[in-house]
Amino acid sequence: MAWFKKARKPMAASTEKASRVPEGLWVKCPGCSQIIYNKDLATNQNVCPKCAHHFRIGAAERLRTLLDDGAWTEHDPGLISTDPLEFTDTRPYKDRLRTSIETTGVNDAVVVGSGRLDGIPTIVAAMEYTFIGGSMGVVVGEKITRAIERAIETRTPVVIVCCSGGARMMEGALSLMQMAKICGALARLDRARLPYVSVLTDPTTGGVTASFAMLGDLNIAEPKALIGFAGPRVIEQTIRQKLPDGFQRSEFLLDKGMVDMVVDRRELKAVIGSALRFMGAAPVAAPAATPAAVGQES
Ligand SMILES: [Zn+2]
Repeated sequence: MAWFKKARKPMAASTEKASRVPEGLWVKCPGCSQIIYNKDLATNQNVCPKCAHHFRIGAAERLRTLLDDGAWTEHDPGLISTDPLEFTDTRPYKDRLRTSIETTGVNDAVVVGSGRLDGIPTIVAAMEYTFIGGSMGVVVGEKITRAIERAIETRTPVVIVCCSGGARMMEGALSLMQMAKICGALARLDRARLPYVSVLTDPTTGGVTASFAMLGDLNIAEPKALIGFAGPRVIEQTIRQKLPDGFQRSEFLLDKGMVDMVVDRRELKAVIGSALRFMGAAPVAAPAATPAAVGQES
């Protein structure tokens, strides 16, 4: 006979591993497992101050870090996919689009802005991974194509920051056509003798890798970014071989000659700036008044 009776069940230990720190104040680095104060991370361009792990950043943040004074003019923000195939998987594509637009605040997976990069007037297209995995559908294709065409018109260099899971499945073959469309525009940019710098960030995969991501006059990757066409599991199953360590990571690809440079995010702007200058792009002094070239007839 028991002397005491427990009226209530004993408190069970929490099975959740993560500590219940208020969200948004501290973040645990996946690279070194250190706890970092969120503000420290933000002032360090979302790179871990201890181990230089590069956290993924959004399109707007990317434009802010690349363009002078964090200022740019956005182009074609209003383009929205019309769901041409009326596609439904586990839920209708229209629903997915609506919730993505609400949660991300952008209308599709790329933001295009023109501004000055290290003084050089530049058009930058940055992909937004949180919008359906940064997937490339008709809107991404059209916005990037227009960005390149605008660059040809205004004689400015193009920088595309890739961050994408590849083509957008919900738009089927139409999304695959964007690969050819963007590559065609890049060929015209090349013929106009204007520079294009591709920045590959974590992750850059699928149709994006298979098209414009690898076509830069200079292909720069961020450290330890996953860059590839098919995923490692698919490749392993196909070739029936174990893949080497670091496969499909920036450093591995640099070693094999697939990318030209691996650059820390904190030095990215300076590196792109000097590369553009090397390729003949000239900086302008004042942001508002663009002085016309002296003695040039138009
Ligand atoms: Zn770290």
